[in-house]
Order: sequence, then structure tokens, then C-alpha cells
Amino acid sequence: MASAYIICANHLAIRDGCFDNAMELSRLPAVWEEVRDDAALGDSDVRVYPYEATPPAGVPTAAFFAPGVDVVGEEARSLSSSQWIDANAHVNQPRILVHIAGDEEIIVAKLRHELEHVVQWLSVPDGHDLFTIYDSVLVAFGSFVGADARGSGVLYNVVPFEADANAAAYALTRKLLSVSDIERLARSEHGVLFRRGPWDPDVRSVAQRLRRVVGSGAIGRVSASARQCESALWIRHW
Ligand SMILES: [Zn+2]
Repeated sequence: MASAYIICANHLAIRDGCFDNAMELSRLPAVWEEVRDDAALGDSDVRVYPYEATPPAGVPTAAFFAPGVDVVGEEARSLSSSQWIDANAHVNQPRILVHIAGDEEIIVAKLRHELEHVVQWLSVPDGHDLFTIYDSVLVAFGSFVGADARGSGVLYNVVPFEADANAAAYALTRKLLSVSDIERLARSEHGVLFRRGPWDPDVRSVAQRLRRVVGSGAIGRVSASARQCESALWIRHW
């Protein structure tokens, strides 16, 4: 049987239906608008790709794709073909991929984390400048991670971009959830999204703090300490 290709309004041939960002957003938890408002973003500031398929092992269950970055490889495998085509047709916009199976409060926290990366991108005239430094910091920290990756989540989460994104998730969920729920979730696999971080998110200073990590020699010192971590300190990261 021939594939039923559909030509959508954006002139893309899409195999399994036209992509509609508004329809995609409606698949998110009912509090999506509250999450977006908390980040002071509009729907047009970000394209969101919710998927239900279980991602391959080791692939983050939520991810921010900065403008200019193609959605390819393992990250793309969980998306529908229309989502994948749309994500790469809008390569010059901020995009978020999120696995929407599981507990709603965890999905909400992940969404707020990823939206903080959008806020960071939009906080400067050209986000490429900042995210190039961010990528360099991740590569530098990554050079201290061996085959046994335990402890590596600590390194990831001390990078100011990540610490701020986690803090933003915590600040929002603290408003939405009860104290007992926050405490329960803080002890879970996703706990880093539900614990008070070292500071409140501050997009006005995050670039300066990121540059300070590079210039201070902190990468080597923090990495050496984190490699002492036992599995109990392993923190899942996004
Ligand atoms: Zn992140």
C-alpha cells in the first residue's frame, strides 16, 4: 500500500499527519500554561514535542534543543515522523522534547527545567555565544567521567545553567505541590528537580556565573571531588 503523504500548510510532506504545535501543547499536563507563564514565555517562544514512546536507555527524558541544533540520532527516535520533520524544519527556534508518560508533577518539573534553558537562550542578543561556553563546560566536565559514570550527574548539575534550571523547577513545584509531596519527590530518582538549589534562578547573572566556572579552575577541583562520589550521590540529569 502506498504511503499516505499529506502536504501540510507549511508545505512539508508528512507521513502521519500535519504537525500542529497547539495540538501538541494540549497533550501536556493541564497546568502547562501555568508552567509557561512562570517562565514568562509565550507559546510562540518554543516548540514542544511531547512523546509517549519510551526513549532508549541513557537518552534524557526531557531535552532542550537550542536554535541551530538538529534533532538527530538517539534523541530523535522516540518522536513521530511529523514531530521529527517539524523539529528540524524549525531548527532556528528553541525546541523541547519531553517524555509524557508517568507522574504529572515530574513532567511539570521537567518542562519548567527545560523552559529555563529557553529563558537563558533568549536572555542575550545571541544565545549562540552563551551556549558555546556552556557546551565547552560540559565537554570539560565530561573529560573527567570514565566508563563508570557514577557521580557525573553532580558535575552536570553544578553548571550554572543546570543549577538555575533545577532551581526554577523547584520554585514552581513548591508553589503547585504540598510540602509532603515535595519532600517525597525530593527523595526520588528525579529529586534534583524538587530540592532547594544553591541559589535562586537568576537569568541576569547566569552568563557571568557560567564564565566564572570556566575562568576559576573550578572544573578540575569540582570534578576531582565529584569522582569520589558513591552511587548514593548519583543524580539523574537532563
Ligand atoms: Zn538542563
